[in-house]
Amino acid sequence: MSARTITVPTADHGDVQVTEPDWCTADHTGEAYREDIEHSGAVTYLVIPTECHGPAHALPVGFVWRPFSPTANQITAAIEMDEWHEFDPAGLHRAADALIEHAATLRVYARQLAAMQTHGGDPR
Ligand SMILES: [Zn+2]
Repeated sequence: MSARTITVPTADHGDVQVTEPDWCTADHTGEAYREDIEHSGAVTYLVIPTECHGPAHALPVGFVWRPFSPTANQITAAIEMDEWHEFDPAGLHRAADALIEHAATLRVYARQLAAMQTHGGDPR
């Protein structure tokens, strides 16, 4: 993983030099306070085919890092939850297949996160 340094203007600490990880896709222009600086990356969705709504996107997972947070300044992986869909037996099998694929994705995120916490770490 590579990283570069960017400057983020803040109301409480002026221009703050921040390590910008290569996975970050966040816009850092609206962060008024240094502790609110948040790196976030692209998310990967679990995609379950449904008869009622077509492909349903759920359980997005992505990396988040608030390097100046006073309580939690480690890189983490965040998962968002979401609505109801109905399945017939074949649809349930497709959902189960999608869950197995997503489980593999979560393991990839876990390995990447462990590497980032070890090597990318805390800039302070
Ligand atoms: Zn960033």
